[in-house]
Amino acid sequence: MQIKIPQAAPSRRINRFRQEIDAAVSNVIGSDQYVLGSAVSSFETAFSKYVGCSDCVTVASGTDALALSMRALGIGRGDEVITTALTFSGTALAILHCGATPHFVDVNLATYCIDPDAIRAGINSRTAAILPVHLFGHPCDMNAIMEIASGNGLAVIEDCAQAHGAKLDGKNLGTFGNAAAYSFYPTKNLGAMGDGGAVLTNDPDLTKRLRRLRNYGFDGRDRVSTAIGFNSRLDEIQAAILEVLLLHLDDGNIDRRTVADRYRTLLRGHAIGLPPDNSGSIYHQFAVRHDNRDALMQHLAQNQIDTSVHYAPAVHKHPVFATGPTRHLPVTEKLSRTLLSLPIQPEIAMDSVDRIADVVLEYLRK
Ligand SMILES: *Cc1c(COP(=O)(O)O)cnc(C)c1O
Repeated sequence: MQIKIPQAAPSRRINRFRQEIDAAVSNVIGSDQYVLGSAVSSFETAFSKYVGCSDCVTVASGTDALALSMRALGIGRGDEVITTALTFSGTALAILHCGATPHFVDVNLATYCIDPDAIRAGINSRTAAILPVHLFGHPCDMNAIMEIASGNGLAVIEDCAQAHGAKLDGKNLGTFGNAAAYSFYPTKNLGAMGDGGAVLTNDPDLTKRLRRLRNYGFDGRDRVSTAIGFNSRLDEIQAAILEVLLLHLDDGNIDRRTVADRYRTLLRGHAIGLPPDNSGSIYHQFAVRHDNRDALMQHLAQNQIDTSVHYAPAVHKHPVFATGPTRHLPVTEKLSRTLLSLPIQPEIAMDSVDRIADVVLEYLRK
């Protein structure tokens, strides 16, 4: 019996850096501040430098990072936010949380990401913002998106929950829009041992509003609420863990690319769709395409290989969004029916990658 290959395995990464993490956690335990203390400020400084933005405001999750960004940008009731339905539901829930309405438009088969032409066609008098998602770590066409935004006076919030360290033509994702939202959910490329998120921005007013919103609406040290704030903070232990893992993020992303290159070499030329090949991608997932996706998934499972579907049903089909107008999104729907995420982590052994590719090819020959 072969050993099962997991689709995601965050504990492998944690165990690899266990000594550094233990020391960092131990420091926090010995301090007297477990929320909004020095570990959080230190991580915020380190992560803002890493991304290349002037400010980082950590919050409790990626969903909160998106929702609070939009709230801080003044997006709310009556506004529409143009986004993709080929994403994790948190992207679109955040739009509802701030009182606005998601306007789903189609993605581009070549990028798996939101299609600039579809954005142009979707703009109307209620449109307030564009929320592109760098799906699986692949960059959206941010140059086209920023041109559309500036031409129409729209805000841009980048969903970078799957794009820690990803680039477009050498420029870091997260530095294009008005704000960028990150998630530190354990399976992300930069993942904590619990929930966490952050907003990155170069706008000092936005930073000020976000710091207020995450902490009961308090302005500075006085416990006086000056806005309808939330309790949405990254805790000190998670911040300390993240600062350790940030040091290893680039190496982890390089390891993922090595795995992706190996999959490409082994699968190229066969009857299976390969993901976009952009040098700035950080391969949060390596998602192939096949018309009989579910049968392929089952064949892999029978061979002790765990895979995952991102995302079916696509978000516009979820009941909570069904109140909006029916959208026909052919590319999104096709991808949602055919995408299959193979295991990809920095820690996966190359002979596991070879075995996965062998089993895929065996299925294709059937
Ligand atoms: C994970 C994820 C989110 C939500 O982040 P949480 O920290 O789980 O709230 C949002 N968007 C995308 C694309 C994600 O992958």
